[in-house]
Amino acid sequence: RLLADVIPPTDIGVTFDDIGALEHVKDTLKELVMLPLQRPELFCKGQLTKPCKGILLFGPPGTGKTMLAKAVATEAGANFINISMSSITSKWFGEGEKYVKAVFSLASKIAPSVVFVDEVDSMLGRRENPGEHEAMRKMKNEFMVNWDGLRTKDTERVLVLAATNRPFDLDEAVIRRLPRRLMVNLPDSANRAKILKVILAKEDLAPDIDFDAIANMTDGYSGSDLKNLCVTAAHRPIKEILGKEKMEGAAALAEGRPAPALSGSADIR
Ligand code: ATP
Repeated sequence: RLLADVIPPTDIGVTFDDIGALEHVKDTLKELVMLPLQRPELFCKGQLTKPCKGILLFGPPGTGKTMLAKAVATEAGANFINISMSSITSKWFGEGEKYVKAVFSLASKIAPSVVFVDEVDSMLGRRENPGEHEAMRKMKNEFMVNWDGLRTKDTERVLVLAATNRPFDLDEAVIRRLPRRLMVNLPDSANRAKILKVILAKEDLAPDIDFDAIANMTDGYSGSDLKNLCVTAAHRPIKEILGKEKMEGAAALAEGRPAPALSGSADIR
């Protein structure tokens, strides 16, 4: 059941080059995480260089947190284990504690590995919540125990990357276990232009496309919004061609002519 949530590094399909902007976050991740994951023995000589075992990525939705976690795993040659509340509720209903134990045990068996906890607030939110279910409490405790076990083994090549849009809803105990917190913010205009260039890097574009103008018109857009904008724009010429064909077909029908064949090689730019 758990193996379905594991992606080997060669199949993840996201590298740092696929992520536009966010230079500071990418550099910090490379420095802090990738080397310790690849060469843990270099980092366990003293207390100050202990390898980092947990990082929190926080920021608005759609800003690239999942992509960053995947890129870390790809570039460190680590297996990516995506754990989520939806997986627990759909496949492990009522067995959250077992799931967590299995995740950590598997992560260590197939190390190096990155355990990505998306929406960590929904899984490890504040513990004082009075309506909290007993099973949920047990699962959280299991998570903490396993995580602590991981943190005390310096050469263990397992990293927990957690992501949230709501850092203030996190349990204090979770925050303490994530000493490094990186903000993944909405892009400004210059960074929106960079993201657009990355998203459109492999597309056949019109020669006069003005990235800066689009970036200036998209204040408040996340990377995900920019991706959606590009997808919508790419579909527009297809719609136009189909609309034109429909009109031509209707005109031919009205005049009693056979409908024209579908155009095969239209320039959709
Ligand atoms: P959420 O908080 O909603 O889980 P997230 O921060 O994890 O969102 P991602 O899932 O990483 O965001 O991004 C969603 C999609 O948006 C990506 O698959 C990608 O297409 C696009 N995207 C977001 N940020 C970037 C970026 N910096 N560069 C290129 N594409 C991006």
